[in-house]
Amino acid sequence: MEIINDINQMQKRAEALRNSGKTIAFVPTMGYLHDGHLALMRAGRELGDVLVVSIFVNPAQFGPKEDFGSYPRDLERDSALCRQVGVDIIFHPAAEAIYPRGFQTHIEVENLSRGLCGDFRPGHFRGVATVVAKLFNIIKPHAAVFGEKDCQQLAVIRRMTADLNLDVQIVGYPTVRETDGLAMSSRNTFLSAAERQSALSLSRSLEQAQQMVREGERAPGRIEQAVRETISREPATEIEYVRVCHPESLSELKWVEDSTLLALAVRVGKTRLIDNRIITTKPGRE
Ligand code: AMP
Repeated sequence: MEIINDINQMQKRAEALRNSGKTIAFVPTMGYLHDGHLALMRAGRELGDVLVVSIFVNPAQFGPKEDFGSYPRDLERDSALCRQVGVDIIFHPAAEAIYPRGFQTHIEVENLSRGLCGDFRPGHFRGVATVVAKLFNIIKPHAAVFGEKDCQQLAVIRRMTADLNLDVQIVGYPTVRETDGLAMSSRNTFLSAAERQSALSLSRSLEQAQQMVREGERAPGRIEQAVRETISREPATEIEYVRVCHPESLSELKWVEDSTLLALAVRVGKTRLIDNRIITTKPGRE
C-alpha cells in the first residue's frame, strides 16, 4: 500500500493507471476509520482494479463554530486498517495544498444544499461538493462509494456528478450500525456512556416510525412528532430537525409514499449526530 501526499504525484499515478487499462475505485473519507468506512472500502474493492482512499479532514465543510480542530485524527491506525482491507493507495493531502493561497472557486449544488443539514450548517455542502470535485480531478476514479448515512451529501454528489457530466459512477452504500442500532460515526468517540445511551433513541425512533407506517400512518407531521417525542425523552438530546422527505429531491411530502426518507439530526451533549432510514409502506420490505 502506498501513501501519497502530493497532488501532482497522485494525478500522475492515476493517469498512468488509466493508461495501463486499470479501473480506479475511490472512497473519500475524513479518516478515524470505523467499520462503516471499511464496508465502503470492501465495496470499492469490487468496483475497480485499484482502490484509492482519501483521508482528508476538509476545512471547507466545517463552520467557524464547528469541530474542525477537535475532529479525531489517527493516520497510523487508519493506515493499518486500510492495509487490512486491501486499499492500494491512501491519498492524504495537506489542507494548504488543496486550498492554496488565492483559492476562490466553489461548487454550489443549489436546492439540494438547502434544508435539512444545510439549514444548520451553512456552506457545508458547498465545501463537500467542492472538495469531492477536486478529489475526482486528482484521483480520476471510474467509481466512487459514498455512505447512505450522509443522505443529503449523497444526493448533492449525485446531482453534481450529473450536472457537471463528471464521468464517475456514484455508488451508495447502506448505513453500517453497531449491534445496538447506533449508526457508526467517527464522532461517536466523543459520546460519554450516558450520551451514547441517549443516542440510541435516534435509530430506535426511526424504527418506531417504520412501525407507525406499517400500521397505516401516512401523515408526515404525526410521524415527525412521534420521533421528536421519543428522542426528547432522553437526557442531553437537542433536536435540530426530523423530516419526512423524498429520497432524491429531499423535498417535503404531503403524505408518506413507498420509499420515503426520514432524516434527522440531533445534538447529544456537544456531539452532532445524524441518522436516516428509508420508510416503506409495503410489508416485508423494510
Ligand atoms: P466521513 O469520514 O464521515 O466523511 O465519511 C466518509 C464516508 O463514509 C462517507 O461517504 C460517509 O457517508 C460514509 N460513512 C460514514 N459513516 C458510515 C456508516 N455508519 N455507514 C456507512 N457509511 C458511512
